[in-house]
Amino acid sequence: MTKYPHLLAPLDLGFTTLKNRVLMGSMHTGLEETKDWNRVAEFYAERARGDVGLMVTGGMAPNKEGGVFPGAAGLFSDEDIANHKIVTDRVHAADGKIAMQILHAGRYAYSPNCVAPSAVKSPISPFPPTELDEDGIEKQISDIVTAAARAQQAGYDGVEVMGSEGYFLNQFLVTHTNKRTDKWGGSYENRMRLPLDVVRRVREAVGPEFIIIYRLSMIDLIPNGSTFDEVIILAKEIEKAGATIINTGIGWHEARIPTIATSVPRRAFTWVTEKLMGEVTIPVITSNRINTPEVAEAVLSDGCADMVSMARPFLADPHFVAKAAAGTPERIAPCIACNQACLDHTFGGKLSSCLVNPQACHETELVLEPTSSAKSIAIVGAGPAGLSTALALDTRGHTVTVFDQASEIGGQLNMAKQVPGKEEFHGFVDWYRAEVAASNITLKLETRADAEMLAAFDEVIVATGVLPRDPDIPGQDRANVVSYIDVLRNNAKVGKSVAVVGAGGIGFDVSEYLVTDDSPTEDLDEWLEEWGVTDPAKHRGGLVPTGPNPDAPARKVYLLQRKSEKLGKRLGKTTGWIHRAALKLKQVEMIGGVNYEKIDDSGLHITFGEARENPTCLEVDTVILCAGQVSNRSLADDLIALGKTPHVIGGADVAAELDAKRAINQGTRLAATI
Ligand code: NAP
Ligand code: SF4
Repeated sequence: MTKYPHLLAPLDLGFTTLKNRVLMGSMHTGLEETKDWNRVAEFYAERARGDVGLMVTGGMAPNKEGGVFPGAAGLFSDEDIANHKIVTDRVHAADGKIAMQILHAGRYAYSPNCVAPSAVKSPISPFPPTELDEDGIEKQISDIVTAAARAQQAGYDGVEVMGSEGYFLNQFLVTHTNKRTDKWGGSYENRMRLPLDVVRRVREAVGPEFIIIYRLSMIDLIPNGSTFDEVIILAKEIEKAGATIINTGIGWHEARIPTIATSVPRRAFTWVTEKLMGEVTIPVITSNRINTPEVAEAVLSDGCADMVSMARPFLADPHFVAKAAAGTPERIAPCIACNQACLDHTFGGKLSSCLVNPQACHETELVLEPTSSAKSIAIVGAGPAGLSTALALDTRGHTVTVFDQASEIGGQLNMAKQVPGKEEFHGFVDWYRAEVAASNITLKLETRADAEMLAAFDEVIVATGVLPRDPDIPGQDRANVVSYIDVLRNNAKVGKSVAVVGAGGIGFDVSEYLVTDDSPTEDLDEWLEEWGVTDPAKHRGGLVPTGPNPDAPARKVYLLQRKSEKLGKRLGKTTGWIHRAALKLKQVEMIGGVNYEKIDDSGLHITFGEARENPTCLEVDTVILCAGQVSNRSLADDLIALGKTPHVIGGADVAAELDAKRAINQGTRLAATI
């Protein structure tokens, strides 16, 4: 008997049946733009082999003006249709189903040629859109319909019409972006006209036996967004227009509320979808921050939706559904919602991947083949770099021994999991534990490996990580000065007022830890109140008119750096703003351009700029050093002195801008070559 009866139940759509209630939601990976169609096909086929019920591709542009950026992929020609057929054939051969998302970006297009219902520039694009005339509107609709017909020709099982997240169709629905006075604007009936025409005409073009998913924005999270009455009216009309399934969109891209980051509670928005249940007769899908089969099953058994959409979890583990069905959920590589290798890459113009699974989107290029000459390999360090390397080598058939002087695996991940909003890191370490237990790896904890002990191994991999950098501030040896390790690992006593020296990822994390008593990520109501989110039936767009209402900070914190640039500028592209906003809500004072002069009984003395002006004493109880790291290479040096040639990876290799993404990727790639 499965633990996930709702999740694994088939869904009968009349003309076709989905094998379970799991949709792999659309993700823009950048794969289609590589034009390496074998690679695109293998990405989706691998997920089909993992038994997901239905997949949606990344957004395909219906025309040039609707592309998210110039050169965005779409189905513009017979050649494009033939290329996409490679993908659909491979997916069908793996017994999967796949729908193509049609995404018209409207004013979100990063292009001077962008078009929109009205000439209202978006805050997230430098380009003001051109207001469409009547002919222009007709062209957009007919291009979307043509794209759907081409998708059908290319062998897709359906299309998803992207109507949420503030893209083109969504822009027609709300007065925030639709200022028109013709039949496409004004009343709600008029504002709905374009999305409804699109769905009706797509249905006419593709016939009755083709899936049409409509992605509908159920909570806009912007001022003057839709009311929930409007959402219900739209959903009912979309059903009448011929949609097969309604999928949930949460928040416009310009919303200043986090919707998918790791600090967002799990299933934070399924209550919104639940409000639509019973209002339409077609299946409804819910989405956002669902990342384990337990959560997905609970969402369905609670009646919040007929199906769940998960996107990033399928980057972390293509076999999510198959592992859940096999009764081994602990073996599912978890998506920790960090965005570091997926969305941050997409927005940086790079191919997506996954921090946890560097093979994601690299299925044809990073292959862990069985080895023909098994070696005995020692890995020193059971942090993410060492463990991922060990697992990859074990998969290939090598004999692997991992040493760590700590009593626990996980390395720095064990500090990260203490930080409010980073609770997902618990699951990450648990997954490593389960994988190591299921492998042939020999784990030697509480063992300090020295060069002599390692001499007999065929290969040695040094993943000993980093040591805190010494900022060399006069007075830093005083009792009121501690390091981030003392705080996050050793629970050091910290006073009520604090200066944090260094505003990298760890300075931000430590500040968050110090100002937060109870993590709102663990309490949905508190989190919604903190960010000012409410029921869209109460207030348009689901925004509380009085704004966010965070708990009082647990401490007074000053966060400092020497650079004069904006603090947090180098944090993740899609998450940095959230870290900054969260600390501002807690009244953290962020100060850049400082020199650290000394620490004494009065506190931390700083000056500003090269001229060391404005001497100021921050009268704090505790100073916490988060001044970055240096490589811990001593073992590597000892091995070299013994004549060995160790492989050095992760922070032990390069400490600057170290992160788990780089460490895991480097280790896995090394493992593929030994
Ligand atoms: P980091 O990002 O390199 O930041 C180090 C901080 O210390 C900087 O603010 C730097 O700013 C300051 N600093 C450097 N040398 C200093 C010195 N000699 N004296 C005083 N201050 C000095 O390192 P980290 O914060 O330790 O983080 C390590 C890595 O972990 C990051 O690169 C990140 O990838 C990862 N991480 C990320 C996150 C996240 O994104 N949320 C969270 C945790 C960790 P100035 O030089 O301007 O003073
Ligand atoms: Fe999830 Fe992070 Fe992987 Fe993206 S990079 S899929 S957010 S774990």
